[in-house]
Amino acid sequence: MANDYCTPLDITQIEHNFAELDPAMSPAEAAVEASRCLYCYDAPCTHACPTHIDVPGFIKKIASGNVTGAARVIFDANPIGASCARVCPVEVLCEGSCVEKTLIKKPIEIGRLQRYATDFVMANGKQLFEKGTPNGRSVGVVGSGPAGLSCATYLARLGYDVTVYERKEKAGGLDTYGMAEYKMPQAVSLAEADQVKRLGVEFRLNCEIGRDVSFDGLRAAHDAVFLAVGLGATNRLNIPGEDLDGVIDALHFIETIKTRDWRSVPLGRTVAVIGAGNTAIDAVTQAKRLGADRVILIYRRTEKDAPAYDYEMELARKDGVEFMWQTSPVEILGSERVTGLRVADAAGLVTEIECDQVIKAIGQQKMASFFTDIAGVAADEKGRVVINENMQSSDPKIFAGGDCANGGAEAVDASQMGKHAAMGIHEALTGEKVEFAGAILRDPPKAPVDPNPH
Ligand SMILES: Cc1cc2nc3c(=O)[nH]c(=O)nc-3n(C[C@H](O)[C@H](O)[C@H](O)COP(=O)(O)OP(=O)(O)OC[C@H]3O[C@@H](n4cnc5c(N)ncnc54)[C@H](O)[C@@H]3O)c2cc1C
Ligand code: SF4
Repeated sequence: MANDYCTPLDITQIEHNFAELDPAMSPAEAAVEASRCLYCYDAPCTHACPTHIDVPGFIKKIASGNVTGAARVIFDANPIGASCARVCPVEVLCEGSCVEKTLIKKPIEIGRLQRYATDFVMANGKQLFEKGTPNGRSVGVVGSGPAGLSCATYLARLGYDVTVYERKEKAGGLDTYGMAEYKMPQAVSLAEADQVKRLGVEFRLNCEIGRDVSFDGLRAAHDAVFLAVGLGATNRLNIPGEDLDGVIDALHFIETIKTRDWRSVPLGRTVAVIGAGNTAIDAVTQAKRLGADRVILIYRRTEKDAPAYDYEMELARKDGVEFMWQTSPVEILGSERVTGLRVADAAGLVTEIECDQVIKAIGQQKMASFFTDIAGVAADEKGRVVINENMQSSDPKIFAGGDCANGGAEAVDASQMGKHAAMGIHEALTGEKVEFAGAILRDPPKAPVDPNPH
């Protein structure tokens, strides 16, 4: 698409709009917040975290001044703990289940405390884990997103020789290319990938499996393969005008923003975003923060049906985004470039919206053909690779996890699947069972919950 759109805002204003929303905690703030934790006996926060980080355990370490120890607890259960501290939907996970939320409507700020601890060690360049004694076996990991990085970390700690193949120029998957900059700057995700490199993991960037390296070659080069390829391109709208100049897919739009080369981002003055998932909500908010005059989110169902989280919706609303519910796009108008969008409401009434950009955010395609035609493993009817509880595919040498196996969830879910895949691979190759922190949540012995044990 020709890029003669341009933001009307000056760079300082945009930098301000994309600065991290949640400020970092000072040591004094962290100490006060940590001291509020009740160290609950059954820690519902740990249950709610998909990687089952020992939340009261790390908070106690912050309270006692052992910030490095706190970070160790976090990264031990989640190798992308610094990213998750920023991008996890904590409102519906750990903080959403915090006892303090029920008692005084003010949950412990677990996400910000996690960020405080992980930032501390990353800023000091501390390496918390070492590569294990080499065991003579090698694993190829396809994709360097949360699932790939997590699996690579645990395997390296067990002494495997791990190579990560990544088709993009930078490691990190959607943590690097998809997260809104005001949630997490790209530098955080890159620093986390660096931590994995320092464990001795080799990264082959700009290397696409199936194009630069054949799948058979990959399979032959390693004792096991972990597929962590995520999802594919954005779904098509399948309406007339979809290929006009000015129609862009949300992932491409967000990826351009991640370069922080603000003037290179194709931005209309009036932007229509189709969809109401978290990607759509990120796209509308970012278009507004870049300086579009008018941004409209268009969704075919009601507001209640919108899959985006409420707090994300609230942010978009505060930024002045408009919403059109129960409205479907019918045709994108224009001869070469977008000039408008024809939409129909629930009653079938057709109207036209003047706009010069349409952003598609109606979900990503699955990578079914990669699994069946290139990797030769089974995929289900939804296009997800089929795996068992050890993350093993229909080919016993090939494992898979993350979005490509669960159909698309959160970064933290992908990280947990990467951990389970490392355990599954180790068991398949050695016959030994190993268990990493937070792999299995053990129910505490039955006892009354005491929310105030001290
Ligand atoms: C716009 C957007 C915003 C999101 N925001 C959030 C959020 O705020 N919080 C949250 O928790 N989650 C969020 N998510 C979801 C989260 O990003 C994913 O769940 C997570 O990244 C999945 O991790 P993954 O490792 O499975 O896949 P990915 O992160 O997609 O990584 C897959 C990697 O595989 C590489 N790859 C693919 N095919 C090949 C090949 N053939 N050869 C080599 N490399 C290959 C890709 O280039 C990519 O780097 C968001 C998703 C999107 C799309
Ligand atoms: S007070 Fe909240 S953060 Fe602390 S252990 Fe209990 S549930 Fe977890």
